[in-house]
Amino acid sequence: MTETIEAPAAVKPIHHWIGGRTYSGQSGRSGPVFNPATGQRTGEVDFATVEEVDRAVQAAKHAFPAWRALSLSRRTELFFTIRRLVDENRTEIAKLLTAEHGKVLSDALGEVARGLEVIEFCCGMPELLKGGFSEQASTGIDVYSIRQPLGVAAGITPFNFPAMVPMWMWAPALACGNTFVLKPSEKDPSASIFTAELLKEAGVPEGVFNVVHGDKVAVDAILEHPDVAAVSFVGSTPIARYVYETGTRHGKRVQALGGAKNHMVVLPDADIEMAADAAVSAAYGSAGERCMAISQVVAVGHAADELVDAIKQRLPKIKVGDGMDPSSEMGPLVTREHRDKVASYIERGREQGATVVADGRESAPEGDGFWLGVSLLDNVAPDTDAYKDEIFGPVLGVTRVETYDEAVTLVNENPYGNGTAIFTRDGGVARQFQFDVQAGMVGINVPIPVPVAYYSFGGWKNSLFGDTHIYGPEGINFYTRGKVVTSRWPDPATSKVDLGFPQTR
Ligand code: NAD
Repeated sequence: MTETIEAPAAVKPIHHWIGGRTYSGQSGRSGPVFNPATGQRTGEVDFATVEEVDRAVQAAKHAFPAWRALSLSRRTELFFTIRRLVDENRTEIAKLLTAEHGKVLSDALGEVARGLEVIEFCCGMPELLKGGFSEQASTGIDVYSIRQPLGVAAGITPFNFPAMVPMWMWAPALACGNTFVLKPSEKDPSASIFTAELLKEAGVPEGVFNVVHGDKVAVDAILEHPDVAAVSFVGSTPIARYVYETGTRHGKRVQALGGAKNHMVVLPDADIEMAADAAVSAAYGSAGERCMAISQVVAVGHAADELVDAIKQRLPKIKVGDGMDPSSEMGPLVTREHRDKVASYIERGREQGATVVADGRESAPEGDGFWLGVSLLDNVAPDTDAYKDEIFGPVLGVTRVETYDEAVTLVNENPYGNGTAIFTRDGGVARQFQFDVQAGMVGINVPIPVPVAYYSFGGWKNSLFGDTHIYGPEGINFYTRGKVVTSRWPDPATSKVDLGFPQTR
């Protein structure tokens, strides 16, 4: 008998998923995947060639006719199975997220739960896809509308929600009868492959859901592919703009969600303790790597001193550590480069006049992980980098203004318009804010107003390129196109030749 010697923990290869099975990339190009808590390279992900993207699109194209022809009741049944499998595997999915993204397990579970709500919404597809019917629009003539799928839809997703954001796309796309090609972030790609396996287990036919990994080469191949009908993108603003412009130039329907700088306005009459809790939760949760994170507090009048003090008091209690440790509240950043970039804003903030109330470099845990503690910058001026840039890390800025009008002007002059929040006890002012503010998602004493699955998610200005928001009713519209049928059944009594334009009266 030969003795087996255990090999040292290997770097996991991560392949594409095409036509219902793993497809090992042939490009010779790949990218590293890290465990951000240890700094160790744990995976190596294939980068697709143009031909490999084409292979995935062809698989999706081939699967489309049968998938769109599947009855609504059978598709719904499949979605209930998908819902059950995602629910049963929430912890497995969450562990993959924590291992490659770094967010703490409880937060990763929260991500899966919010994605699951989108799947649940899609279980209602028979209702969502109902058209209208007008009987006797003209004598003997009925008119009705139907919504039909587009064909092959593609999704290109960011690193910060490796399970939920893809669910925002593939769930409504598939529910509407499209087939799908996902290009997830190359930084944390494993959850997408796990999803593919679950969909296969649920009974989704091969080719209906495909995954290609990669970088700009794969993205460009999707954007230029003549058989891709629609592209959903979520990521940073420069790439969102590029994806929108390139995709639409190639005749595709595109929704491209970009970056954010979410302001939280705190009025003097606000419950300051509640506002401080909310600011801390929304700024540092997921290490600030959320497109709906609060990155900028706008403190109005005498709210400022008390609020900054209340936030400061809370910071030493935040437990930064490995996301797998249940006591951790905030994990590391996604890569070393990103950690260094985020940290650079603390020094630059100080140089450009901000008061560094807490410096995350000083409170970062020891070790090779991509660690940064929580930072608080007060007196951040609107013309400084810490204010203008989307830092996307655990750095919260506070800008002080004297009046509500100044606060709203600040929010509205910002080039981003994703989420925003106001903290006040005054219902009238809150209502005025909702009326005035130029952002797609507004919270009233709610710091992260991510819409529930039966509304749609999306920002304004540089936070979204395209006409439709994502998931919810707008997601159903995005993944379908309308058709109106005017119908008459043969009736010899009313049949005659008439060359005039069709009249209804
Ligand atoms: P990113 O723009 O770097 O990457 C997003 C996707 O685009 C990835 O799949 C990536 O591979 C691809 N990509 C990157 N560079 C590219 C290029 N030059 N050409 C073509 N494709 C390219 O974004 P990220 O760093 O992964 O994610 C963080 C960003 O996403 C933040 O700006 C955040 O605000 C934003 N985001 C927005 C929302 C929203 O709903 N508005 C949600 C989540 C994240």
